[in-house]
Amino acid sequence: MQALIVTDVLNDFVYGKLKSEKASKIIPATKKLILEARSTIVPVIYACDAHLRSDPEIELWGDHAMKGTDGAKVIDEIKPQKRDYVLEKRTYSAFHETGLDLLLRQIEVKSVVIAGLYTDICVRHSAADAFYRGYEVSIPKDCVESLYEENNEALKYLAKMYSAALTTSEGIIKSWREK
Ligand code: ZN
Repeated sequence: MQALIVTDVLNDFVYGKLKSEKASKIIPATKKLILEARSTIVPVIYACDAHLRSDPEIELWGDHAMKGTDGAKVIDEIKPQKRDYVLEKRTYSAFHETGLDLLLRQIEVKSVVIAGLYTDICVRHSAADAFYRGYEVSIPKDCVESLYEENNEALKYLAKMYSAALTTSEGIIKSWREK
């Protein structure tokens, strides 16, 4: 069983304090992927920054996606639905102290598709943590963007270091439909 993890497609990253033009580019494909996941019964898990002032990242980046604020909410275009899972995180990784590993084991998931922001930051750290825990990782290239590095280079790193399968939202949708 596979699950879709959507990391940090939050108001602050797309429209707010840390917005980047690149962030908006992934919305259409990511939305399509999420809708397809719901209709083919693939669990959708949102991993969302929800920072406290004491988090080490705050000194580095300034306030962003602070817990309980609008900036920390998933953008309206891909708003979580009732059956989706929403996990709050306080570091780059979707796994660090979020209960994600336990959740994946409970729903018998062995393989994760990671989408969201950014390939060279939270997607990278989440892919690393997935790899360390023995999950297979797939990345739809059109559903991730990189902040500092060139996206393709950041993707290559994921393939090389974490054996991530680089694919597209279409490729993933096709594989879900075949199951
Ligand atoms: Zn953060």
